[in-house]
Amino acid sequence: MTTCIGYGVHEANAPLEPVRFERRALRDDDVAIDIDYCGVCHSDMHYVHNDWNTTRFPCVPGHEIVGRVTTVGSAVSRYRAGDLVAVGCLVDSCQQCAACEDHQEPHCTHGMTPTYNGLDRISGEVTRGGYAQHIVVREQFVLRVPPALDPRFTGPLLCAGITVWTPMRAHGVKAGTRLAVIGLGGLGHMAVKLGVALGAEVTVITTSPGKADDARALGAHHVLLSGEPQAMKAAASSFDLVLDTIPRSHNVNPYLMLLARNGTLVLVGALEPLEPIHGALLAVNNRSIAGSLIGGLQQTQELLDFCAEHQVLPSCEMIEIQDINQAFTRMHNNDVKYRFVIDMASLKSVDTQDAGESTR
Ligand code: NAP
Ligand code: ZN
Repeated sequence: MTTCIGYGVHEANAPLEPVRFERRALRDDDVAIDIDYCGVCHSDMHYVHNDWNTTRFPCVPGHEIVGRVTTVGSAVSRYRAGDLVAVGCLVDSCQQCAACEDHQEPHCTHGMTPTYNGLDRISGEVTRGGYAQHIVVREQFVLRVPPALDPRFTGPLLCAGITVWTPMRAHGVKAGTRLAVIGLGGLGHMAVKLGVALGAEVTVITTSPGKADDARALGAHHVLLSGEPQAMKAAASSFDLVLDTIPRSHNVNPYLMLLARNGTLVLVGALEPLEPIHGALLAVNNRSIAGSLIGGLQQTQELLDFCAEHQVLPSCEMIEIQDINQAFTRMHNNDVKYRFVIDMASLKSVDTQDAGESTR
């Protein structure tokens, strides 16, 4: 076991504060990583606030992790000390079921192990995430950061990026696809950049008129204000794929209406009950509604390689760990452009005596 200092919460809605906890000792197939950067996802805030009633306290969030390998277990063959690597939303799965064999580890029949707030498959300990000095991860769940990818901008690809890349690939986004992205936040801005890189005609649907110029600067071809009924009506039946990143329960019907014949709305944001959906809106135009959960390891590596080759990088605001509570408040107030990334060097100045002991 190795003592680790991180930032976490001991109860719902408490401010994040320094926490001291133990990382597991290295197993044969484990990689130990010193964390350099960690992105801040809206899901981190959902867990800290216990929005889904599933949070195990104390909770140390963070699943957009970039760092350097420090040590490897005796059976590790793909990595060695000094390698630049990344860890996303999951750190283990059964590796034997049909989903795992299909490289869809998030859908592991026996349940994937999330990077934080999960239970280690062997020891049963609660997993703790990347708002911390270091982490120990099974080799198969560690990704390689290509040399052409700037590590400061790699973290948000591990969750925000892969969560929109997976449905874009599944639904065959290509040159000419009419793609709409609802919500210009962490996920949404990556969907714009990736959609443009794939050649799609991209429309941002936003509640924030003030983001229109940014949307175009990110590469969007069109901007639609969801609060303008006339504009929404004029856009009826005009998209092949709609990616819905809205982070809370909402009325999907006005967005379903935007789908052209055989179009699909993929819901990735609101992982909670939705307002009732009108069946006729699905029947007309043969529309579909689908969901999507992060992405498999192979596809995440594909994304990292694609972003390195095409230099598709998230728009990040670097912060110090001491600013994390202010960052959460700004995320709550829809004031992020467009992903916070924590520079973990700032953890060095945390007085370890201040860090409260984790009891579980
Ligand atoms: P974010 O950075 O906060 O962005 C969300 C965007 O949604 C906001 O920028 C805003 O864009 C829009 N929005 C916010 N509140 C809204 C409301 N009440 N009605 C309509 N639009 C609203 O969040 P994120 O990190 O992109 O995460 C988005 C959601 O995806 C979260 O719920 C997160 O938990 C979830 N998530 C899911 C997966 C998955 O695997 N499915 C993975 C990661 C995250 P505008 O200002 O442009 O309207
Ligand atoms: Zn996330």
